[in-house]
Formats: sequence, C-alpha cells, structure tokens
Amino acid sequence: MKATVTEIKHFAVHDGDGIRTTVFFKGCPLKCLWCHNPEGIAHAPALALRTEKCTGCGACAAVCPTGAHKIENGVHSLDRALCTACGRCERECFFDALTLYGRETTVEELLPALLADRGFYESSGGGVTLSGGECLTQSAFCEALLRALKAEGIHTAVDTSGFVPREALARVLPYTDVFLFDVKAIDPAVHRRCTGQDNAPILDNLRYLDAAGAKIEVRIPFVPHHNDGELPAIATLLSSLKNLTGVRVLPYHTGAGSRYAALGMENTLPDVLPTKEALEGAKAILREKGLRVID
Ligand code: SF4
Ligand code: SF4
Repeated sequence: MKATVTEIKHFAVHDGDGIRTTVFFKGCPLKCLWCHNPEGIAHAPALALRTEKCTGCGACAAVCPTGAHKIENGVHSLDRALCTACGRCERECFFDALTLYGRETTVEELLPALLADRGFYESSGGGVTLSGGECLTQSAFCEALLRALKAEGIHTAVDTSGFVPREALARVLPYTDVFLFDVKAIDPAVHRRCTGQDNAPILDNLRYLDAAGAKIEVRIPFVPHHNDGELPAIATLLSSLKNLTGVRVLPYHTGAGSRYAALGMENTLPDVLPTKEALEGAKAILREKGLRVID
C-alpha cells in the first residue's frame, strides 16, 4: 500500500503534545481561503518553481523528458500540463528553485524515519502526528501506519478537517491517541464561503468522535473578517463536548504567500492579520464557557 506525502517534519512543537514528527499527506477536500499548506490541496504531486531563486542555468530544461521547462530571454516558464512529476529537474537544480511536492511512500519506508525520533518523543511526551492536506483522504494507509506506530508504543495524533467520510474516522479511531480537529465556523453560510464546503458532516463527525470517547483537541483558525464572528457559537458547541482536552486558537498568518505563486495557484490569502487584542478576545470568549485554552 502506498500514500502520497508532501513532507515529513521533525521536531514539530505545534502539532500536539511534546516534540513530534509530523507526516503531511497530500490532498484535501476543502479550499480554505486562508490555507497555509497550499501544496497539500491537490491530490496529485506538483512542482513548485521559485523564480526568485532561479539563475536561468538551464540544467532543469536539459533533463526534463517532456519539455516542461522553457528559459527564454532570461525568463523561466514551466508548463505544468506537461509535467509528469518525475522529479528529475528538482534533483538537478543546485539553487533550490524547484520543489516537488508529493512523493509516494510505504509504511515500511516511513516507519524507520518516524521511530528514529523515539528518544525525543519519550523525553517530551510527544509522538507522531498525521496531518496534511487532509490525511484521512488516504485513510487506509493512515490506519496501517497508526497501527504500526501503536505496536511500537508511540503516541499518535491525527490532525483532521473533519470533512471526511465517517468510515475514515472509524478505521483510525482504535489507533489514535488524540484527534486535532479543526472547527472553522458554525454558520453553514460562513463555512461554505470560507472553505467551499458544507460544515454539517464536520460537526456530525466531531460529535461522533466525542460520543466514541476519543480525546479531541479542537483547533480554530482565527481569520479577521472571515470567521472571527463565529467564536461565541463555536464556544457553545465545544462546551457541550465530553472529551475535549483543550482548544487552540490559531492566528491567521500569510507565511504561505510565496508558495501559491511558486505552484501557479491563485493566492486567496486574506489581507488582514489578527491583532493581539482580537486574539486575546477570542480566547476570552472560550474561557468564559469554561473551556481550556491551550496557548
Ligand atoms: S536548474 Fe534551477 S536554477 Fe537552473 S534554470 Fe532550472 S530552476 Fe533555474
Ligand atoms: S518533474 Fe520531471 S516532468 Fe516535471 S518538469 Fe521536472 S523533469 Fe520535467
């Protein structure tokens, strides 16, 4: 069995408790305006070209079997329709101008890299987190990987948008120590405008996990003028859950801006960043409902 992943990030400290290694899977059914992992949205592998790093040396064009690279008059263009994601050009570029996002891997290949950090997990109370994209678009693989990690005694977390079939959650549930579950909006119209999808399945899945006794850490992306008005309704929903370990407010940032351009994607990132006061106000709304806010 194979999965497509974009990155394995070691020493992650924001993807659950302790020091963690995070596996980013490719493919996501949502299109959040503020997505900070645009390389994870499409299911297929994609080549990023950072023109600001390109020297125009032409090494990529020389090895590309499909003629996807063209360098004319100092301008480097990439025809993505021709790219088969073979990765040859990335290996030839000495200037870090090319990145292929999305490589196939197996549980047997991943496991040694994840177990190599065991000492850090044990000393910090950390473990392995599956993230994305939406990792549960590849749920059979996630189940196999999580089962293998649990057999090794590793703490596991699944970071999910919740916009997945119920069966996907059910199959990873026995091997997941905590779900990092995104809640972006309660108002269906707000959710649809911000993500392109209905939130009813997400909220149903959240209640399902809670009823099943799963530990859940809810994460709220906080985006001014988009979902900041949703905090009171989100707080009310969360206060009804029995197995919530805490809630984290994730302040929107624009760090992914250059990756949209490099991937040839439309940049949908909003302009306005949250102020410190607005962020603290959001946390106060959650605390007023008796929720544990994780800073
Ligand atoms: S190999 Fe790298 S630096 Fe050279 S032309 Fe291609 S992208 Fe630019
Ligand atoms: S990944 Fe392969 S097919 Fe795509 S541009 Fe590079 S060399 Fe060409």
